[in-house]
Amino acid sequence: MQDISVIIADITTLECDAIVNAANSSLLGGGGVDGAIHRAAGPKLLEECRSLHGCQTGEAKITSGYNLPSDHVIHTVGPVYSGSSGDSISLASCYTNSLNLARKHNLHSIAFPSISTGVYGYPAQEAARTAFCACISWLQEHQDYSIRIIFCCFDSYTKSLYEKLVTEQR
Ligand code: ADP
Repeated sequence: MQDISVIIADITTLECDAIVNAANSSLLGGGGVDGAIHRAAGPKLLEECRSLHGCQTGEAKITSGYNLPSDHVIHTVGPVYSGSSGDSISLASCYTNSLNLARKHNLHSIAFPSISTGVYGYPAQEAARTAFCACISWLQEHQDYSIRIIFCCFDSYTKSLYEKLVTEQR
């Protein structure tokens, strides 16, 4: 079974096999969703993150979820928006590499925030399209893998963008 859903929520409240963190390359915490995840997970998350020695843009690394209701956190580093064609390639890689990691660890539910659309400045509509297309492509390439993908939006505008993409795809 493969499924895509769109919700509005604080990602730290979700009970999934993994939630995705829009981290920075140090993996040592930051603002936005990153700060919220570290606060909710507790100090052991930072301890494990220190052992990972950072993460490059577009790549993903996994940790335990500690005090979060979700079992794991997949940390990925979105691109800082520059307006160049490389932005969407990096952003798509965040989603693809996170899903690859989920599959490698036999995880079957994963919630994504809208990566790069906060302080990294990626326009929400473009980011939603890139995120959605990357996930759809991944699902098509892994049709035998059962997974629930949740786009966890933090505002109603972002949610409406993803809902439109889901409707168009059906
Ligand atoms: P980035 O540095 O990748 O831009 P941000 O954390 O600044 O990351 O923002 C990414 C997205 O996450 C934004 O759309 C922001 O509204 C959203 N966001 C912030 N806090 C949360 C949260 N607790 N749960 C879900 N989404 C969140």
